[in-house]
Amino acid sequence: MSKTSRICAFALPLPVYHGFDYAVDEVSNYQPGIRAELPFGRGNKIGIRLPGNPSEEGERELKAAIVPLDEQPVLSSHLLELGQWMAEYYCQPLGEVLFFCLPGYLRKSQTQTETRLRCWKLDSIDPQLEQSLQTRAPRQHQLLQALRDKPQGMTAAELRSIHANWRQPLSALEQQGLVSSHWQEALPATRLPLQQACTLTADQQQVYDRIRAESQQFLVHLIEGVTGSGKTEIYLDLMQDVIARGQQIIYLVPEIGLTPQLLGRLQQRLGPVVVTSHSAQTEWQRYQAWDQFRRAAARVMLGTRSALFAQSDDIGLIIIDEEHDSSYRQQDGVRYHARDVAIKRAQMLDIPIILGSATPSLETLYNLARPHYRLHKLEQRVNRSPPPSIQLIDCSQQPLTGGCSPQLLQAIRQHLAAEGQVLLFLNRRGFAPVVMCHDCGWQASCFQCDARMTLHQAQNQLICHHCGHRLPMPVKCPDCGQSALQHYGIGTEQLQDFLQQQFTGVEVIRIDRDTVSSAQQVEHKMQALQQARPCILVGTQMLAKGHDYPHITLVGILDADQALYSSFYRAGERLAQTVLQVAGRAGRADKKGQALLQTAFPSHPLMQGLRDQTYAELVQPMLDERKLIGFPPYVRVVSFQVDALSLDLALDKLQQVRQLLMPLLSEDEIKLVGPIPALMARRVGRYRAQLTLMADNFAQLRQVLQQALPQIQALRNTRKSQLTIEVDPVDL
Ligand code: ADP
Ligand code: ZN
Ligand code: ZN
Repeated sequence: MSKTSRICAFALPLPVYHGFDYAVDEVSNYQPGIRAELPFGRGNKIGIRLPGNPSEEGERELKAAIVPLDEQPVLSSHLLELGQWMAEYYCQPLGEVLFFCLPGYLRKSQTQTETRLRCWKLDSIDPQLEQSLQTRAPRQHQLLQALRDKPQGMTAAELRSIHANWRQPLSALEQQGLVSSHWQEALPATRLPLQQACTLTADQQQVYDRIRAESQQFLVHLIEGVTGSGKTEIYLDLMQDVIARGQQIIYLVPEIGLTPQLLGRLQQRLGPVVVTSHSAQTEWQRYQAWDQFRRAAARVMLGTRSALFAQSDDIGLIIIDEEHDSSYRQQDGVRYHARDVAIKRAQMLDIPIILGSATPSLETLYNLARPHYRLHKLEQRVNRSPPPSIQLIDCSQQPLTGGCSPQLLQAIRQHLAAEGQVLLFLNRRGFAPVVMCHDCGWQASCFQCDARMTLHQAQNQLICHHCGHRLPMPVKCPDCGQSALQHYGIGTEQLQDFLQQQFTGVEVIRIDRDTVSSAQQVEHKMQALQQARPCILVGTQMLAKGHDYPHITLVGILDADQALYSSFYRAGERLAQTVLQVAGRAGRADKKGQALLQTAFPSHPLMQGLRDQTYAELVQPMLDERKLIGFPPYVRVVSFQVDALSLDLALDKLQQVRQLLMPLLSEDEIKLVGPIPALMARRVGRYRAQLTLMADNFAQLRQVLQQALPQIQALRNTRKSQLTIEVDPVDL
């Protein structure tokens, strides 16, 4: 090893909480954020150079880094800092977090490949030379003619379509100085014409002005407004300003079903400067978008939660649409909340961040009291049609057929007759959720989960929605062998069948995970709805988000009662958000809408509230209650979860964690609950239990964590039992 070598720390994608030191002889080749191939164990691994001054090599015999993989860092110093903050805040291994912040393409040993397209152009042509080529080199001549027809240039794919063996004649043309090449950006194209901004309404203008007035500093702007109140239009105007200043924008949406329509809308206003990043894309597509954004060829990064880690030197604005949506929380791998990390990123960059929602999360409403939060309300829809009021249908005293009450069926009939479209929301897929034997009481449950299996009739199978396990539907009860099995309850498959029988000749479209698997398929299915002919749309949560259905006049919500007896402490909040979101789909454009909510508990305060109150009025008592019983957002929570081969193993490991924490909890300001089995303790054959820390004061909680973490993290994770830590978990 040469004398000049230095020690640099690298993060490796491993479940460990520290960096690894390696000797490096040419430090300038290993700037922070550069990936390098490193010897590790018996093989090699990729690491990312961490910030921090390299130290002189001391006594230790260190392995030497093998080779840098990058010329320029894959993580800017700002993203390295954000990643370090995330790792610390969420108690996640630094290497795993940093690798997570990279596009998948760069998590392996791929180099930073060029994402622009090489493009060849005809520079000059001498008629004599051309003529001689015709006889002397017919392939060159053929390419020459094609290039003349395309003055903007041709890509490799286009040249290949002229001639399969195009490379050799093309380079001959290049050598003669007739053709030259350049790099061309391959940004997502649009055929839509550019559109002028529309004149904002007075309400929109006010919100726009207030955000614009403070556009050069960190502030969290909550725009609270129902669907159709013109939030997106305000974002568009603000984005135009940011782009005009030469800066870039990150725009997050909860689900990709939303983006095809939205992408078109952004391109129409901002031009072909928008790239997208979401899980339905290939690794290459996501890397390409990342690279285009990094080089500022694209000005807007539109995507789902991980698009937040797009790299840029000059972001001017972050937008989080539908900020209340639960999909911003990642529940496996690196556990983080994209909205909260986005707020941190905006703070580090000292730029504004906009949160948009018709039904803001209780966390955000609670945070409004903090000095750097601003609330902007849009009280009306742009077209002034009020959102439909919600009517309750009492179904406690009457039989339902196909999950529908007579009043609901009557309303569907009326709306279809008036050429309206109907949306029925039922958040349960499959045909029936319960299958049992009348004689002996046997129930179809999953052999590896604490869960029932759902009947899917078209496939004649029982399916566990938690692990995906499938069985053929038994003809007779497997236990007593006596009788045929009965099914109870209604899922979307059955609802669709039933409605199809009731309303012959009317198209019944079903949208759930069994009928659509990609954004394109959703778009395809939705096309029927763009025409103004009567039809019925049946679907799960997938329907609640984003789409614009101009002709829907009736929304029916079936089986919302599940939320009333759920043990999930956010169930009420979720129900209110979903119901208002789904009901908001009725009656856009010029058609007045109606929303019906079926419930067996019409006098329950939540149901009454949904009928009579605004969202703000509805959630205030929920906030009060959480304060009273000491739940988030009034307390901060860190939970330790173990997933093990047996429940005893899970509880044992958590008991060890408890032992480590107990001595640190002198004051009773920090509560320790558990270990207890998780709600659905058995899942895919493994058992889960949890231990929860709760405190009013986050600083105190952090202090305890910081002291205990090294020992907790040292508890060995094996296949038998795995410990994960969740900071701000969604559930308790
Ligand atoms: P939101 O994002 O709150 O759902 P949008 O911005 O999508 O609302 O606006 C709803 C509809 O109203 C869209 O079709 C949009 O084009 C239209 N719209 C919004 N603002 C205006 C305006 N100032 N003038 C005319 N149409 C508008
Ligand atoms: Zn039986
Ligand atoms: Zn299962």
